[in-house]
Amino acid sequence: MTDNTDIERAAQMIINASRTVAFTGAGISVESGIPPFRGEDGLWSKYNPEFLDIFYFTHHPKESWKLIKEIFFDFFGQAKPNDAHIALATLEKAGLLQAIITQNIDNLHHEAGSKTIYEFHGNSHKLVCTQCNTSFHLGEISLESLPPYCLKCNNLLKPDFIFFGEAIPEPANSMSFAETEKADLFILIGTMGEVMPASLIPDLAKKAGAKILEINIEPSAYTNKITDLFIQKKATQAMTEIVLELKNKMAL
Ligand code: ZN
Repeated sequence: MTDNTDIERAAQMIINASRTVAFTGAGISVESGIPPFRGEDGLWSKYNPEFLDIFYFTHHPKESWKLIKEIFFDFFGQAKPNDAHIALATLEKAGLLQAIITQNIDNLHHEAGSKTIYEFHGNSHKLVCTQCNTSFHLGEISLESLPPYCLKCNNLLKPDFIFFGEAIPEPANSMSFAETEKADLFILIGTMGEVMPASLIPDLAKKAGAKILEINIEPSAYTNKITDLFIQKKATQAMTEIVLELKNKMAL
């Protein structure tokens, strides 16, 4: 059960903290129409994850790219940031949030206006050359014929998010851990703690002394382990109420 007192407590935690970091996962973007990968209606119940395996991609770029375009560009491309994304951008502008570490690749934190964002799994709105490493914005590259090739060296382009079998990109990886060590408040939003190694970050924050505020529609791997305050609500609802409470407290 979540009541108003919990929203008040959450707002107070944000006011009391000197370095707050939000850690977001698929759950924050579900309300923007982006299905999670995991779970009953997740993407993996419909698609074989093989097409996002780096080995498969290298050997079957056309097949892999057909599904990538269908899912990430034709379908997700329409998604817009929701009130939870916007609330985080509002907190950052007010100096109440220092960074976002996101597991999402959907670019919605950027579109909402947030500035300090560490994309632990990369970003689907950028394409990167598998040979010369040049990166391109989605709009610069035609996806009429697949796979797309580099405008500079004509080698294969890959979306700039991580595939199975790839390492977490830098500098997002080291910056995420550096922010985690410094934070005294961590806000977990829409993340169940199922994806390694990202799932280790909140545990590390707790160990480094941060308080944990968790917003999820159901209890996660963190709830009974490290969470100080659990708000069981949709991300948009909880974040809207918290922003309102911060306004009432004249913190915004
Ligand atoms: Zn190139």
